[in-house]
Amino acid sequence: MYFDYEMLASAAKHSVGNYEEIIESHICGCYHCRFIFYARDIDPEKNVVADEGVFTVACLYCGNETVIGDYSGYPITDEFLDAMNEYALFINSYKKTR
Ligand SMILES: [Zn+2]
Repeated sequence: MYFDYEMLASAAKHSVGNYEEIIESHICGCYHCRFIFYARDIDPEKNVVADEGVFTVACLYCGNETVIGDYSGYPITDEFLDAMNEYALFINSYKKTR
């Protein structure tokens, strides 16, 4: 399956302020370390980052705020997380060169 740039860019928005969406999800995936886990394993005390009233789930494995839940409608698969990982690397390298 091919994931286009627009789709990856929209999906990336679901990794921020996503607590409400994540708790409605069944499975979640991290596109930094590609760890896939059950939303029910999230500990709100440990895995949720609060920033000025915005609540974001941090990865249970690597701690990065790069988690997307299946409630977002995106496929939580290795293939999708690989594509997201490449997209994030591309965006980060773009930011650094500016
Ligand atoms: Zn991770």
